[in-house]
Amino acid sequence: MRLFKKKTDTVSITAVGDILLHGRVYGGLNKKSDYDFDNQLKNVKSLVGQTDITIANLETIIAGNDIGLSSFPKFNAPKEIGYTLKNMGVNLVTIANNHVLDHGEEGLLKSIKNLEEIGLEYDGAYKSEEDSERLRVIEKNGLRIAFVSYTRGTNGIKVPKSYLVNSLKNTPVLSLVKKLRKIKRENLADVIVANLHHGEEYHLQPSSQQREVFASLADAGADIIIGHHPHVLQAPEWIETSRGTRTFVAYSLGNFFSGQNGLHRQIGASLSLEVSKPDPKYSGIEVLNPRYNLTYVHRESKLKYVIYQLKDWIEKNPYIETDDGLFSSQEIYENTIKRMRSSITDLDIE
Ligand SMILES: [Zn+2]
Repeated sequence: MRLFKKKTDTVSITAVGDILLHGRVYGGLNKKSDYDFDNQLKNVKSLVGQTDITIANLETIIAGNDIGLSSFPKFNAPKEIGYTLKNMGVNLVTIANNHVLDHGEEGLLKSIKNLEEIGLEYDGAYKSEEDSERLRVIEKNGLRIAFVSYTRGTNGIKVPKSYLVNSLKNTPVLSLVKKLRKIKRENLADVIVANLHHGEEYHLQPSSQQREVFASLADAGADIIIGHHPHVLQAPEWIETSRGTRTFVAYSLGNFFSGQNGLHRQIGASLSLEVSKPDPKYSGIEVLNPRYNLTYVHRESKLKYVIYQLKDWIEKNPYIETDDGLFSSQEIYENTIKRMRSSITDLDIE
């Protein structure tokens, strides 16, 4: 299978899940400056930005103080989180999600302006028609990686101009399938990473609808599919495609950094993997070495949350703390690994 493989043709990618910032995560809505995001995220620095490309799902707009910070159910977070992500090595944030229009077009445009100022590429919601037509492609080691990001919905808020958000409400799955096929057919990229905000919140298993949509995208040309929205980890699997390749599907990457409380909602992961083009003449892409590093968000005080690598947390702390009570750290760690290996039994995970 790996004939002609050359080192230069391999690109490593990391993805992390939802960054969903409730006011209580960063000191409350009245705190207007001196945020501490760098410290709150420092324990997972070694999981982010260590590969050729790193992406994250930014689930709240970061329009900042200019339009007033807000929390659940309509979020707006400080733009400082964007600088922290950028400094950690995040290259691109996906922003197609159900909260992207929490503060309407104005909030989205202000958030995009902040992302541009920070120098963070974004995908899935846009400032103009032209912006929405610009396919996001990152080229590394001679491989072009395209990112395509869609959300199933926008919390019932009507998308005022269709270019603003890639919504499956406006774009049937079939059109998305056509878009992916076109990228491959017209050779606009070598690898497609599809990001899909889909599925049922808090369900530990992907829904049948989610499976169906993800399988269609795999068949249409997505080499890697990253799911968000359930806010909990769902076990990944390989999907064999009619193109003779296999697609890696992370149905849900869970929360990465959020103020959500509840055992599975406080546990997330960074996912890293490699893509390679074994032979320039051969159109097939190999996805290799998927690896999960589990994370845990701890409520350090009423208004401060800190993220840890779960393996580090369990070494020093016998319990995981949630609103539902205390859980044995070791047991949760082992159970999560077991659950994540339900389809890929030899999945590399710690
Ligand atoms: Zn969501």
